Amino acid sequence: MKVLILGAGGREHALAWAVKRSKRVTEVVCAPGNGGISQIARCVPVDLKDVDAMIRLAEEEKPGLIIVGPELPLSLGIVDALEERGLRVFGPTRAAAMLESSKGFAKRFLQRHKIPTADYAICNNAAELEKAIGIFHAPMVIKADGLAAGKGVIICPSRQTAIEAAQSLFTGKLLGEAAQQVLVEEFLEGEEISFLCLSDGKHVAPLAPAQDHKCIGEGDTGPNTGGMGVYSTDAMLEPAMQEWILRHIAEPTVRGMAEEDTPFVGVLYCGLMMTARGPQVLEFNARFGDPETQAILLRLESDLVEALEASIDGRLSETELRWTPGAAACVIASSAGYPGAYEKGFPITGLDSAARVPGVQVFHSGSALADGKLVTAGGRVLGVTAVAPSLEEALARAYQAMAEIHFDGMYFRRDIGHRALKKKK
Ligand code: AMP
Repeated sequence: MKVLILGAGGREHALAWAVKRSKRVTEVVCAPGNGGISQIARCVPVDLKDVDAMIRLAEEEKPGLIIVGPELPLSLGIVDALEERGLRVFGPTRAAAMLESSKGFAKRFLQRHKIPTADYAICNNAAELEKAIGIFHAPMVIKADGLAAGKGVIICPSRQTAIEAAQSLFTGKLLGEAAQQVLVEEFLEGEEISFLCLSDGKHVAPLAPAQDHKCIGEGDTGPNTGGMGVYSTDAMLEPAMQEWILRHIAEPTVRGMAEEDTPFVGVLYCGLMMTARGPQVLEFNARFGDPETQAILLRLESDLVEALEASIDGRLSETELRWTPGAAACVIASSAGYPGAYEKGFPITGLDSAARVPGVQVFHSGSALADGKLVTAGGRVLGVTAVAPSLEEALARAYQAMAEIHFDGMYFRRDIGHRALKKKK
């Protein structure tokens, strides 16, 4: 079977790598892909904002399965459009993807279905917002309603900063586009967990849990990024806690979406805060996370394609996913200046020796081929990922591989997994 993956980052590289291992797959095509992906799959250009172009490509390629990586094409209704043309596609419809594309929709949904989440108010203008802010204690969180690539959330230490943050969202100063709605949220304290499940619209199958590191600087300092590293271990969620999250968060979400005639088929990514009063939903994503996917798929022993097909066919209750025990870790190498402005086009060296470290896979987030050589092409460039029997070993392998790699201005955090390592001491 031919599989078409839509997307261009480290998540899609990891998906292509996992899909390729399936017995059922004869060819992997990635659109548009990147330099690293082109070494394991055929890459074809496509604009992920252009639904018609993606349809044309899918009709030409006639894949047996299409996997949609990023949120933007999902929010544009790519799954609805491909399904209408009889194509087999893994991902939620536009209506189901609203769990990610509108934070206001997600909060109202959570409240309707009594799923634990922070208290909130949804505001349509500055006057409504000022009123709402008056009833929340500082610190509080201000969020833009729509997709904002992680830039639409501001933690505000005081009411005054909350008003200023909301103004910069309403006027478009912060995101370049004016937010129609802004949310105020209660500030939650605790540790964050990325809890991803496959959903077939009725049942869920949990993936290995993961913890992301959003800040650019060590010790979780500095501005937020798309994610600077992630780890996944057996120990990060006790079986009883996983069960609780399934019963009280993931399953009621999938049930609620089905009851509202917008069944959710795809990856339900629950961003959770583990607070003193239990796990609370911070956000949903309607797709695989990046870089969570890199670490999670390195631990997956089951056939990914079979699991995705079981989701599409509503057979997930018969599917149990098998995981390599122990841990996986992914450390991101980024360009100097990221998440601000950065330069591109620097040659990347040392990838062959890095790949020789046992248990290591290097997934490319932002690389390109120039005259047959790999060069940097994004803020996040590589996800150096390793699997091992323990977190310490997985991290040691990832950092050993990282030491082999070089490009001008390469930066990476040296403290991925620091919270888990501290707990063990
Ligand atoms: P979101 O896109 O809604 O997940 O927000 C991005 C990040 O902001 C989360 O991963 C959290 O670190 C933080 N965040 C979001 N909402 C809250 C909240 N209510 N309390 C504390 N931190 C939050």
